[in-house]
Amino acid sequence: MPSYVTHLACPRCDRRHEAHVPQNVCPCGSPLLVEYDLDAVGTALTKEALAARPAGMWRYRELLPVASDADVVTLGEGDTPLLRPSALGFRIGLPGLRVKDDGLNPTGTFKARGASCGISMARVLGIEEVALPSAGNAGVAWAAYGAAAGIRVHVAMPRDAPAANRIECELYGAELSLVDGLISDAATAIARTVSEHGWFDASTLKEPYRIEGKKTLGLEIAEQLGWRSPDAVVYPAGGGVGLIGIWRAFEQLARLGWISGPLPRLIVTQAEGCAPLVRAFEDGKETSEPWSGATTIAAGLRVPHALGDFLVLRAIRETGGTALAVSDEAILEMVSVLGREAGISAAPEGAATLAAALALRETGELDADDVVVLVNTGSALKYLDLL
Ligand SMILES: *Cc1c(COP(=O)(O)O)cnc(C)c1O
Ligand SMILES: [Zn+2]
Repeated sequence: MPSYVTHLACPRCDRRHEAHVPQNVCPCGSPLLVEYDLDAVGTALTKEALAARPAGMWRYRELLPVASDADVVTLGEGDTPLLRPSALGFRIGLPGLRVKDDGLNPTGTFKARGASCGISMARVLGIEEVALPSAGNAGVAWAAYGAAAGIRVHVAMPRDAPAANRIECELYGAELSLVDGLISDAATAIARTVSEHGWFDASTLKEPYRIEGKKTLGLEIAEQLGWRSPDAVVYPAGGGVGLIGIWRAFEQLARLGWISGPLPRLIVTQAEGCAPLVRAFEDGKETSEPWSGATTIAAGLRVPHALGDFLVLRAIRETGGTALAVSDEAILEMVSVLGREAGISAAPEGAATLAAALALRETGELDADDVVVLVNTGSALKYLDLL
């Protein structure tokens, strides 16, 4: 089984980079994107062959960077359900509502997809120790996949991250340091230690392969809708990796000719207490300003500055999407609505997408006949101390 990866590309300065050696960001500071020989993928893979494969996100391996099955580090991630909560959908005037329930992944969040791919590639590239800052859930996912792969993981996270994250990081044997401050302060701590110890810096978007794992979210949504694009996808953005991944998925499927028509409108939601991407979108900017005094109960959205901000903003604008902030009160209420009215265990981040969809339905930006996919990025079980 060959890898169909041709190179890593810089989306800012267009420089090409070698894919078969460890890489972080482009010298221009931009994250790197993985490029594939899509003509070859289109010849090698059919929808029928795909449908016959065993479950899990590695079914899409021609569109993923790992060549050999032996290098895949899996804990059973992916193939999460695309739920159709009809009663809730009818009540809020969106009968075509779907919820991609990614809280059912290993470690309880969609971070498992990124970690499975990132750790697998670390194994391919001979990396033995990785370090990353995390708002909480990414650290846990990397800790678990690192444990499965025999790769040592160092995590720095805010001292006030949800308790589950701290406990699970230790459960999976990662070295955990707690930092006073936010993920950005954890990032400063990590940047210092990686250069000191020669560890690989696996920070969000400083590592090219997490996006590829999260891309499978978009691939699954298209496949679960019978190889159709929904009208809109509502995504709770922290660093925005998942959104960039979903965008890449639909673009690649369109180039393969597996879907037709417009790409889904990509809609980003953030919390009112930390909404740098929303503010940049509203101001018509191409990049965001760091948000000062970031605060929200949705820990995964407490990211004051995203390295891939320009990519998120591009994805929103190129697909005719939008961005909007929702309050912590609305988020908590929607955790409860998803639970009581649909039996869905939603993390506050995931619940934020329902708050956003309601607001957009009210303004008419979402129509009654739209197929709208909410991405529930995590399980409520990760937030018991909050709930
Ligand atoms: C990390 C996280 C997010 C944000 O993901 P990005 O890819 O950084 O935008 C959303 N929800 C949950 C539960 C998370 O853990
Ligand atoms: Zn560049």
